[in-house]
This record gives sequence, C-alpha cells and structure tokens, in this order.
Amino acid sequence: MFTVCKFGGSSVADSTQFKKIKDIVLADDRRRLVVVSAMGRRNKEDYKVTDMLYLTYAHVKYGGNYKSILDVIRARYQEAAAELHLDYDVAADFDKLEQRIQTGCSEEFLVSRGEYFCAKLMAAYLGYEFVDAADVVHFRYDGTVDDERTSRDIAAAFGAGKRVVIPGFYGSYPSGEVKLFSRGGSDITGAIVAKAVSADKYENWTDVSGVYMADPRIVDNPRHIAEVTYDELRELSYMGASVLHEETILPIREINIPIYILNTNAPQDKGTKICKDAAKSKQAITGIAGKKNFKAFTIVKDTAASKLKVIQAVLDIFDRFGVPVEHIPTSIDSFNVIVESKYTEKVTYDILTEIAKLDEVVSVDIDNDLALVAVVGRNMVTNTGISGAIFSIFGKHGINIKTIAQGTREINITVGIANADFEKCIRAIYEDMV
Ligand code: ASP
Repeated sequence: MFTVCKFGGSSVADSTQFKKIKDIVLADDRRRLVVVSAMGRRNKEDYKVTDMLYLTYAHVKYGGNYKSILDVIRARYQEAAAELHLDYDVAADFDKLEQRIQTGCSEEFLVSRGEYFCAKLMAAYLGYEFVDAADVVHFRYDGTVDDERTSRDIAAAFGAGKRVVIPGFYGSYPSGEVKLFSRGGSDITGAIVAKAVSADKYENWTDVSGVYMADPRIVDNPRHIAEVTYDELRELSYMGASVLHEETILPIREINIPIYILNTNAPQDKGTKICKDAAKSKQAITGIAGKKNFKAFTIVKDTAASKLKVIQAVLDIFDRFGVPVEHIPTSIDSFNVIVESKYTEKVTYDILTEIAKLDEVVSVDIDNDLALVAVVGRNMVTNTGISGAIFSIFGKHGINIKTIAQGTREINITVGIANADFEKCIRAIYEDMV
C-alpha cells in the first residue's frame, strides 16, 4: 500500500515548511511517493517562484537584466539548502541553468525549473530518490498525456522498496522538450503518479484544512465539507473554488483512488475526502462557487433559418478562435453564447465580425457584465424544491438573474448575474440554504 503525497507551493515555501513535510512523510510508512510544486509565497507580500521564472523568461526574451531576478530565486533555494544542512549543490545547478539560458532555452523549460530544483532539494532532505518528471511524464505532440507510457515509466521508476520525489507541473514531448501543464498542474502530476502505482490514496497537502462550502473571502467561517464526490469537486473547482486543479480528478476517478485535501500547517485536521461515493449527508447542497467576468454574445437569427445550423456555425467561430464555450441558453429566434472574458480579450471584435457575416444572423450583441454562480450538490437530484428555494433568494435580495442552466444530472444549478451582485449573491445563498 502506497500513498502519494503532493505538497503545494506554500507547503514548500522555505526550510520551516520542509521540516513540517519531513514530519508528515515520516509519520506514515506508506508515504513513499512525494510530488512537489515550486516554492510558493512565504507571506502575502512574497512572490511565487513560478511567477518569477515567467518574469525571468520575459527579461531573457526582451534583452532585460534577467540575472537579478534569477539571483533572487537562486537565493531562496540556497537559503533553504543551507538551513537544512544539505549537501545538494544548488549553486552548481543554477550555474548550469544560466549557461543553458545563454545558449537558448524554451520558456516552459525555464519555468519548470521551479519544481525541478524543489524536488531535488526535497529528495536530498528526505533521503528519497529524485525522479525527473521529464523522464516519466510523457506528452503527445497534441499536448495530451500518453497515459500508457507515463504509467509504465512511473511504475518502473518506483521499484520495490523505493521512495521517490517527483517534480510536479511538467513532463516532456516525445522529442524530450519540456512541456508544462496549465497553472496549478502539480495536482495533476500527483494524480497521474497515484494512478501509475495504484496508490491507496492521494494526499494533496496545502495551506487549508480541506474544502469549504463557500469561499472564506466572501462568507465568514463557511462550513467545512468532510466528504465530496469527484463530480461535485470538479464542478466546484471548475467554477472557481481554488482547491484543486479541475483536471486532477480525471486520471483517478475511474479507479476510485480517494483524494484527501490536507493542511501541512495543521496535519492533525481531518481535511476533506474526495471519492466516488461520498458519505450520505443531510445537506441539500454541498457547496457554492462562482466566477466573475463572463461575456454573453446574443445572436438573433432570421426566423426562417434553422436554429441548429446557426448555432453550429457560430460555435465553429468560437472554436476557430480557441474560445471555450460555457453555456448556450436558447429561445426560438435567438440564443446566447456565454464565454469567459479572459479568452476573448484579443478576439472579441473578430468574433463579432465573423458572426455578423453569417447570412442567417440578423444581429449580434454583447453583454460584458456577467458573473456565474454555481450551486453544487449530489443531493439535489433527490430533493425537490431546491431551485425554487434558490430563485426565491434572488427575489428576496433583489438580484436580477440573467441566465440559468441546470443539466439533467442535476448536480449543479448555475445562474448568471451582474458582476456587482456576485458577493452578495453567494452570501445570500449560503445564509438561506446552509
Ligand atoms: N508552480 C506551478 C504554479 O504555480 C504549478 C503548481 O504549483 O502546481 O502554477
């Protein structure tokens, strides 16, 4: 029985955090596979190493003084190595990196070094073997993970009796070039490793004791969630609950490896368990999450034109510009396409122009002021009256609903409101429904 432990950026931010990790790892003999992020923030004013590495690359690219930024990063690793009395020669590795920068390296390679150095440091500190993610996490050229090859190589690297540390967040293309996951992707590495070794559990160690029913920055002391299903967590994290990268669940959902969200700074806390069949709960809803800054494109079509064809043509345009679509509420002669604004920053006018060119389209308009709030819960399917209760809350608090979506799985109800109503809306639902 093996447990995969992934430690996030704040858990590996300095030598004090490394010591907490050693205590955690040594407390349970099953914790033989450790995945780490790059060093994160030590306090609110601090910077994440990953962000500094992106900045370093921007300076390299535009001929700025990258060395001063790299020296700040170097100092953080050197300080931790010195405080932990490690033999690991951080300076030699950073010298090599500088040579590599001078001869030319990709942004993804440079940014991946945050995790790489952290894993080397952690391996030296725990006395575990360092396994480079570039050797075992394999991407195809289309950016998807080659599961079979990856599982095989991770399982091979983790032989009998071994204890290993693997850097999160990256792998490599068949050519050997480093490829990153999207931000926060060390969570995905942890899941991939858990799947490859058929771990008994995947512990995701962070700086909060699990998942809460609402964002604590919006709702005071929200209730803790003891157990949540994979599907609920995916909905919540997709809709902005910043606990886990939303893709973390995918590699292990089928084989039902439970994930535990745990707190490195309070390891005795119970945390949140994420699994297929979460324990029964009397709570009608499991959590509330949401995101601001969506756009709704309103397309009015010619009454004689086929709605399906127009929707297809319009979606094709969004696809061509690489803009993911959230919802498509429809009525007989018009429909909306709702997208996250960050994806359309540079292409809004191009998309409008292309849509307007379609013969069947009478007009196209944009509403730039949209936030989405999702109420998520596995019990919604068996409880009637939940949507009625939610909508009456909106009425009571004078919040105008712009869009509504609920799938037949009835795991979430998503409403669109004005950005300015966002916090008020989450508080109101929490106060009345929890
Ligand atoms: N260090 C990367 C980031 O900041 C990946 C991770 O921490 O998961 O996004």
